[in-house]
Amino acid sequence: MDPRNLPQTPELMIAGPGELHLDDLEVLGHQVIAHYGDVWSELHSGLLDSLSEFLGTKVSPYVIPGTGTTCLDAAVMNLFVPGDKVAVARTGFFGSRLSEIALAQGLEVIDVPVEIGEPVDVQALAGAAEGTAGILTTHVETSTGVRHPIEEIAAMARGNGLTCLVDGIASVGGETLDVEAMGIDALVTSTQKGLESPPGLGVIALSEGGREKIDNLPTRPKSWYLDLKVWDRYREDWPWHPHPVTMPTNLVIAFYSSIRRIASEGLETYIKSRAELASYVREGLQKLGLQMVPRDGFGANLVVAVHSEDPAVIIDHLAERGIMISGGLDPLAGKSFRVGLMGRTANFQMADRVIEEVSSALTG
Ligand SMILES: *Cc1c(COP(=O)(O)O)cnc(C)c1O
Repeated sequence: MDPRNLPQTPELMIAGPGELHLDDLEVLGHQVIAHYGDVWSELHSGLLDSLSEFLGTKVSPYVIPGTGTTCLDAAVMNLFVPGDKVAVARTGFFGSRLSEIALAQGLEVIDVPVEIGEPVDVQALAGAAEGTAGILTTHVETSTGVRHPIEEIAAMARGNGLTCLVDGIASVGGETLDVEAMGIDALVTSTQKGLESPPGLGVIALSEGGREKIDNLPTRPKSWYLDLKVWDRYREDWPWHPHPVTMPTNLVIAFYSSIRRIASEGLETYIKSRAELASYVREGLQKLGLQMVPRDGFGANLVVAVHSEDPAVIIDHLAERGIMISGGLDPLAGKSFRVGLMGRTANFQMADRVIEEVSSALTG
């Protein structure tokens, strides 16, 4: 296939990535620039400052080439040492992945079951986590579209002296979060979901408590690339090149452009309008007789997950009309479909088209 002449592809309303806004797309197409020097270091530090504001951190966050998962790996290995015991909330597909990541790094994992569609039971999690080093959980579980009570989970962790690591990949940009105020040790996110930027970067944000835990880790991670102390060293020693590797400059500047666009609207306003859009989609689909996966009041803002007996019919019908939505993921594979509300297409006109086409798919 000729990369300069791609076939027409559907508009994305999948559970990530989202399409870029056209202004950010233009920035992405800028000629490659050097990943060091005055212009670059000003761009890079501007981005980190904006992210700090978005996430509520006093500690400067890390932007690392890779994806969100790269940063989940990094967060786990910088906060825990092999042999540590952790409790993982099995919120769904991505909750299970947290468990796999912890196991891959030699941690001992206590899985805490979470019913499909239900929020994490904070008391049950607290009980299971007794005597462990920490808790790992998703904020929004993308496979079920459930928003978990992150403030309560983090407060419980802090109260019990447990490290709290949060996968916020499907929440940042769409949900209220404040890393320092909530006492989350490390929050991880990606660029391509609520932050409406190209995929290819991950973010780790630390609270002061998390920073201290990383500084006091008894042994360094068995990785050079993902050891945050290596990243710190370059920030300190090489301020003109404040990272150990060549940054994907186009991705970073497109990311910064998107962050500034969201900031110019105001992050709170942005989150509120996304919450309204998600409610609108849920209500529209409920009127068609469909049942949402999340229990009422726990539906996320960036992804709407819907029970369906025959999701393929609906997904194919929409695809034929130029809109791509997502199928279900384990444990709801073949039993659900999901509508992503991120990026250029996250608007009421597109929501109306989706609802209308789902309706026409249902009535055959
Ligand atoms: C998308 C997603 C991931 C995977 O993120 P990548 O950026 O593809 O690594 C992990 N967790 C959640 C909750 C997600 O929605």
